[in-house]
Amino acid sequence: MTEEQKCLFCEIVKGNIPSLKIYENEGVVAVLNIKPATKGHVILIPKQHHTFIQTIPEDILFQLMVAAKAITAILTQILQCPGINIIHSMGSTAGQKIGHASFEIIPRYAGDNVKVEIPEGKTNEQELYEHQKIIVKAFQESTIKLLKAIKSGEIKVSPEIKTQAEKALAAMEEQKAPKNPLKEENVKRVKLEDELGKL
Ligand SMILES: [Zn+2]
Repeated sequence: MTEEQKCLFCEIVKGNIPSLKIYENEGVVAVLNIKPATKGHVILIPKQHHTFIQTIPEDILFQLMVAAKAITAILTQILQCPGINIIHSMGSTAGQKIGHASFEIIPRYAGDNVKVEIPEGKTNEQELYEHQKIIVKAFQESTIKLLKAIKSGEIKVSPEIKTQAEKALAAMEEQKAPKNPLKEENVKRVKLEDELGKL
C-alpha cells in the first residue's frame, strides 16, 4: 500500500471515510473535528497528500489561506467566539499526529480548556543577530543557487527572465552581510520591547 492509501486525511478526501465537510474548493477541504477541542473545531487540509507545508505548491497554499480566512469569518459570525487559533504542527515533536499537513482552526472561548502556551525565553542581542545572519545567508545561498541554474541554462526560462536573473545574481554576489540592526550605532533608537508591546 502507498502512504496515500493509508492516510486518514486522504481517505476523507476520497470519501472513503465519512466526514462532516464545512468548506471545499478545488484544492482544499475543511471538516469538523469529531473530537473537537472546542465547539466549531475545524481541520483544514490540502486534497493532495503532503506531509509538511514545504512541499505544498504555492497555488494550494493560497487556497488554504483563502479557506482559513473564510472559515474564521463564518465561525466568528455564527459562534460568536471571541478568539480563534490556527495551528499547523510539523513533526511529532510539534504535536503532529497524522502525516498529512493540516491546519487546525480552533474557536476560543473564555474559560475553555485549550492551552496554547508559548513561553518567553531569554537570549541576547548578539545571539539574535547571529541567528539572523545564518538564516539570511541560507536564503541568499538558496536564491543564488537558483539564479545560477537559470544563468547556466540548467533551468529553462524566457530570455527576459534570464536577463533579470543575471542582473539579480550580480547584485546579490556584491551584497555584504547585513549590519546588526540591534547594535546601538545602527539603530534609530526604537526599543524592540516597545515595538512588541504595541502588538
Ligand atoms: Zn494524505
